[in-house]
Amino acid sequence: MDLLRDLNPAQREAVQHYTGPALVVAGAGSGKTRTVVHRIAYLIRHRGVYPTEILAVTFTNKAAGEMKERLARMVGPAARELWVSTFHSAALRILRVYGEYIGLKPGFVVYDEDDQLALLKEVLGGLGLETRPQYARGVIDRIKNRMWSVDAFLREAEDWVGGLPKEQMAAVYQAYEARMRALGAVDFNDLLLKVIGLFEAHPEVLHRVQQRARFIHVDEYQDTNPAQYRLTRLLAGAERNLMVVGDPDQSIYGFRNADIHNILNFEKDYPDARVYRLEENYRSTEAILRVANAVIEKNALRLEKTLRPVRSGGDPVFLYRAPDHREEAAFVAREVQRLKGRGRRLDEIAVLYRTNAQSRVLEEAFRRQNLGVRIVGGVGFYERREVKDVLAYARAAVNPADDLAVKRVLNVPARGIGQTSLAKLSQLAETARVSFFEALRRAGEVLARPQAQAVQRFVALIEGLANAAYDTGPDAFLRLVLAETGYADMLRREPDGEARLENLEELLRAAREWEEQHAGTIADFLDEVALTARAEEPEGEVPAEAVTLMTLHNAKGLEFPVVFIVGVEEGLLPHRSSTARVEDLEEERRLFYVGITRAQERLYLTLSEERETYGRREAVRASRFLEDIPEAFLQPLSPFGEPLGAGREPVAVRPTRRSSAAGGFRGGEKVRHPRFGQGLVVAASGEGDRQEVTVHFAGVGLKKLLVKYAGLERI
Ligand code: ATP
Ligand code: MG
Repeated sequence: MDLLRDLNPAQREAVQHYTGPALVVAGAGSGKTRTVVHRIAYLIRHRGVYPTEILAVTFTNKAAGEMKERLARMVGPAARELWVSTFHSAALRILRVYGEYIGLKPGFVVYDEDDQLALLKEVLGGLGLETRPQYARGVIDRIKNRMWSVDAFLREAEDWVGGLPKEQMAAVYQAYEARMRALGAVDFNDLLLKVIGLFEAHPEVLHRVQQRARFIHVDEYQDTNPAQYRLTRLLAGAERNLMVVGDPDQSIYGFRNADIHNILNFEKDYPDARVYRLEENYRSTEAILRVANAVIEKNALRLEKTLRPVRSGGDPVFLYRAPDHREEAAFVAREVQRLKGRGRRLDEIAVLYRTNAQSRVLEEAFRRQNLGVRIVGGVGFYERREVKDVLAYARAAVNPADDLAVKRVLNVPARGIGQTSLAKLSQLAETARVSFFEALRRAGEVLARPQAQAVQRFVALIEGLANAAYDTGPDAFLRLVLAETGYADMLRREPDGEARLENLEELLRAAREWEEQHAGTIADFLDEVALTARAEEPEGEVPAEAVTLMTLHNAKGLEFPVVFIVGVEEGLLPHRSSTARVEDLEEERRLFYVGITRAQERLYLTLSEERETYGRREAVRASRFLEDIPEAFLQPLSPFGEPLGAGREPVAVRPTRRSSAAGGFRGGEKVRHPRFGQGLVVAASGEGDRQEVTVHFAGVGLKKLLVKYAGLERI
């Protein structure tokens, strides 16, 4: 395969870039990721670089998987030696090898967001402070992502943060850190910070890792945070064979402390950097691209860039206004059904939304049409109670100092160890300054005989599992957990236990699949789970062919022939939390831009006139971003996906009392039907006896009726 053949001249130059720093900065769909992939293959094939000297950092685990697959096709088995991963996975891998240098215990656990919350709840309780653990977690994430010391935090933060005065929040942070240390646990942000600390304290370790990463690539560089920036700099070291790739217009993680300046300042950080600009968009048709450009141009804080379509013409971009969000979802499902009828595969279609909560109605609408869906994100598989319980047993076995895990399963299934006993044991752990598990060993000191014996049996159970943890594979180990702990039996007795057992089957399947590709113990599997469980993996069993549902954030870097963006409304996009500051509003606009530029051939924008928020129905306005798009670029559709003629009012216009000529009905009129009750006319066609109307009835949905027989009454 000729690595340069399917590339344009600018891409070719970037692919042949050899040593020294390089920046590839270009708009969406211009082949940035493709350039990275080809460059890696080129280094191996034409520059004699060993795969074991190459690191590529991607934004998600999914992107890493895809990149590896593409490289495997290009360079064959050598691709297995490449290091392709997210920042977090890379950091964890480094810490597993060198963590002891900075005092990490070998079996240290990685806390996910739920674990963090549980711990923060304890910490807040212990300090007698009242704020939501979520808020505290947000602040702690900020402190870590920005690499603030406590002093820096006290200097930089607003007086009140996360619902507390900042001095109190600093105390929460410190108590949290102390607890994490005692538990032998690290959270996601720690992964990066610890590695930075490790490298700074132990240059010899950094040096060794640099040998494994002599050529570094970072995709989506516009969304790196200060810690990732620092880590990249350290790794690039003196050799500075660093290629970063990104698009400032797609920076959408500012709310998680990503700093767009990292990419804007790259040339200042590396004055000798070569800059490659790609200006052709290969992904989307011209019609889609001009909508994307019209939207992003309205941002004031941006660098001008050229992005020309390679694929000319194409279908217009479609717009549908629904009476409410149920009908909006139903429209999307109907349209997908129609496309399927015309030969589209469901995998080619994605529905994107701003918030996870929007997925439920869509999911239901698709189920009603018997269309498979794959939801990326949301309450993921690994967030489910039974999965977390079983994994908590595994964690407790691997690291009995993991108090959260031990507490989680101590009385699941029930062992007669109640809240009072639990409180006494926690008290003992605290006063004796030992782990909770250690306190369990000494249960006799604080509990009456029968409870103490129950606790002893639990201790023996965990110790037994601990012995097995290192010489059975993950699959066999998890089976052991299910059998020995009585957990499976407990589920069998529960009313909805069957579904939960199926989920556990799925977990065992995941473990087996993992074993097919990796050699390792349950501890390694837990690492993998901790990293992939972060809201980017599809949920549960996925039908063979399915429409992809995900948030706009999760869609970054991906592409689909057909894309629906739903809820293009004020309050959602831009999100109501982001309209006060220009910076936030511009980030929302970039998010919309990211969504639009995922589409290759067909793009639909939909919104509804009414939405239910917190149980209240309220009228909503179209997104201000829609006003950025010239009317001529959008083709309004009827509820049945037929184009509405130019100059005609879009469907579901505001209610008007004006009745039309000859007694016919018009869109927007309110009517009553003898059986369906009150409704809103969303479309009308034909005249006189043959007039047909489409009416949306609350709770019933859309009905197409022949006026002559329908018995409609204006109200
Ligand atoms: P994003 O900003 O969304 O991450 P990107 O710049 O990384 O986009 P890619 O995903 O690499 O863009 O490429 C977009 C699409 O264009 C892909 O389908 C890719 O295969 C195709 N493509 C890129 N360059 C070329 C080319 N020279 N010839 C043909 N197709 C190309
Ligand atoms: Mg990309």
